[in-house]
Amino acid sequence: MSGGDMLDFEIRPNPQPVAAAEREALMANPGFGRVFTDHMVTIRYADGKGWYDARVEARAPIPMDPASAVLHYAQEIFEGLKAYHAADGGVTMFRPDANAARFAESARRMAMPTLPEQAFLDSLRHLIEIDRAWLPTSDEGSLYLRPFMFANEVFLGVRPAREYLYAVIASPVGSYFSGGVKPVAVWVSPTYTRAAPGGTGAAKCGGNYAASLAAQAEGAEHGCEQVVFLDAVERRYVDELGGMNIFFVYDDGTLVTPPLGGTILPGITREALITLAGQQGRTVVERPVEFDEWRADAASGRLREVFACGTAAVITPIGQVRSPDGEFTMADGNPGEVTMSLRQTLLDIQRGRTEDVNGWIHHID
Ligand SMILES: *Cc1c(COP(=O)(O)O)cnc(C)c1O
Repeated sequence: MSGGDMLDFEIRPNPQPVAAAEREALMANPGFGRVFTDHMVTIRYADGKGWYDARVEARAPIPMDPASAVLHYAQEIFEGLKAYHAADGGVTMFRPDANAARFAESARRMAMPTLPEQAFLDSLRHLIEIDRAWLPTSDEGSLYLRPFMFANEVFLGVRPAREYLYAVIASPVGSYFSGGVKPVAVWVSPTYTRAAPGGTGAAKCGGNYAASLAAQAEGAEHGCEQVVFLDAVERRYVDELGGMNIFFVYDDGTLVTPPLGGTILPGITREALITLAGQQGRTVVERPVEFDEWRADAASGRLREVFACGTAAVITPIGQVRSPDGEFTMADGNPGEVTMSLRQTLLDIQRGRTEDVNGWIHHID
């Protein structure tokens, strides 16, 4: 098909799915991104033809020519969202329409074709339906969905490719924090930045992650689990982490987060927290935060809590902050009250334990 928003998916069930007993064993302690379901979705694209061959099929390696454009020039984007076992026994997703819209935005920035949002949503639904047995039923577990797209035209010339493969895989995941929420230590890199004005910082592309790994390694050498990136122009303002946005909580209960402006990934968790905090009567301000200000306000006690947020870990408190100039600790190094209460509220909405006044929950069945 081409043009319209509806794609017909051909369903080809895996003839050799993982046996139930083995699946149960794999799901007992899945960790993150290590265990995968029996199926995947694939949809192809070619210039002049549009989107075609939408399939749900056995999860398998994808044959790739060594001259596939993505292997050389990195036209690749992805998304990450979760499906939940709802309190009523059904399956839900949290704002998948926002992921669909962001996927299209990322595609535009990387000069890739945009998948119709309905096809994106249908691809998720089909995969969840066929791999329903892989959905964890525990309170903290979920099925992590990873839609992605890359240039698979066989051509070494430098221009936007004319052929693409869109795919979705799924991975059952447990609680991000086994044994309770623990604050992380973050490294403020003096060496690396993540995104420059006019660059790809607002696109969810693999290249951004590739560029962040040396910083991640530098942070690990200094005993840190995560990296906080400063702006690329002045190295003065806090942008975000490698894969999470950041919030500051002041002593009067105000929340502050850096404004989107092209160098920060527009997190769906970030946006939801801005809305939720506002609905709880908190003041939420989107404004630039200087790293020097962070350090000074932490020392004075005016700044009480700092946390990172994203789909995978929901909310991660930040405890230690390290840079070549030294280190400091947020409050007493324990998760803050506001941090933990927002975390609980968001988890309760995502899992259908509290009313979804914003219409964020998408029911599958
Ligand atoms: C995915 C991502 C986030 C978080 O986005 P969510 O929609 O909340 O999961 C934040 N920063 C970066 C760089 C990301 O890639």
